[in-house]
Amino acid sequence: AHEGILRRQSARESAARTYARALPIVPVRARGLTIEGADGRRYLDCLSGAGTLALGHNHPVVLEAIRRVLDSGAPLHVLDLATPLKDAFTTELFRTLPPRFADRARVRFCGPAGTDAVEAAFKLVRAATGRTGLLAFTGAYHGMTAGALEASGDATEVRVARLPYPQDYRCPFGIGGDRGAELAARWTESVLDDSKSGVPRPAGMILEPVQGEGGVIPAPDAWMRRMREITAARSIPLIADEVQTGVGRTGAFWAVEHSGITPDVMVLSKAIGGSLPLAVVVYRDDLDVWQPGAHAGTFRGNQLAMAAGTATLAYVRENRLAERAGTLGTHILAQLRKLADEFPCIGDVRGRGLMIGVEFVDPEATPHAAVGAPPSAAPELAAAVQRECLRRGLIVELGGRRSSVVRLLPPLTISDEQATAVLDRLADAVGALAG
Ligand code: PMP
Repeated sequence: AHEGILRRQSARESAARTYARALPIVPVRARGLTIEGADGRRYLDCLSGAGTLALGHNHPVVLEAIRRVLDSGAPLHVLDLATPLKDAFTTELFRTLPPRFADRARVRFCGPAGTDAVEAAFKLVRAATGRTGLLAFTGAYHGMTAGALEASGDATEVRVARLPYPQDYRCPFGIGGDRGAELAARWTESVLDDSKSGVPRPAGMILEPVQGEGGVIPAPDAWMRRMREITAARSIPLIADEVQTGVGRTGAFWAVEHSGITPDVMVLSKAIGGSLPLAVVVYRDDLDVWQPGAHAGTFRGNQLAMAAGTATLAYVRENRLAERAGTLGTHILAQLRKLADEFPCIGDVRGRGLMIGVEFVDPEATPHAAVGAPPSAAPELAAAVQRECLRRGLIVELGGRRSSVVRLLPPLTISDEQATAVLDRLADAVGALAG
């Protein structure tokens, strides 16, 4: 079955398949951190549906919530009508949101993916401000539909101005740290305030508190506060894309809590649906200029996803899994830094909570001769590490500007012993290639 399924799908599916190419496995059963393939092999899954599975695969509370709906006779599809399941989800979601934000928040169910909620956010701020431009950051990832793409990666669309995202390791200004982040903030200010910059006052600014697909780059808290000041002073709505950072992943329930800022709009998906598709845009009530029908669509709130999502949000909150992600993440980062000391091909280890990245480099090669510049990225080595991990029964994700970052996004429920097993397998894989 295993080989046949792989063969047929690679013949019939679009060449745009990504994960399936790098990970030739056929998952048939899963529980927690573990996936079992059709060939009987077991894997530790640190990809977690691209960071979706806060509680891992098939967590009992999620399964129970879904079963209860199925057994209750509740309708599975009701467009965007009010239902007890939607009521419970909204109540739990608002309970978890930063209080100052939740107090005045409105939610719009989008659907079904993160990129839909990003589109909704763009459309909302454009309607609310009457302006069209958007500010986004280098290395950003917001999704794959047209508007989200404009604000992602290295696309060059005139309607979106791309500004430097602060980073230590490959700081665009070559200094890193707080000073690098402050320079990035000043760059943003100067673009906004220079009438000849070609960037008219935008409808909004969108940022990820930790860039995920961009290579796991946590924004410094001070820079987040600067972005809040800069946008507030110019009445530019600030959109926090917490599609990947949300629901405890970074060590706070929402990553904006680290810096204490209150965004105007939050874009949420992935873990909020408890492994089923669900996406929402949440925003301050005075931005709610939409008239009925202004942002419609058929799939606006999958009832099963709401039930699974309510159970997930409540479980993360009640069991303080954000805190757990914070402490375990700090420990994992420390262990990985030891590994980096041993292997020069690991250029950088970074992350926040259980959103962790290990950047592979070619220590012999620097892109330009600048003093102190980090070595060139090593995407082939990162891909080889991913393959070696898979051979050892560990699933990891790749990301980063040049796909040279091995990413770990384990469920927040991962045990200490499992974390040690993950680290051992990764260290083994690196050792086999670079030892
Ligand atoms: N925003 C961020 C920060 C993401 O990480 C992603 C997905 N990786 C998206 C938006 C898009 O979500 P989706 O893939 O569900 O469309």
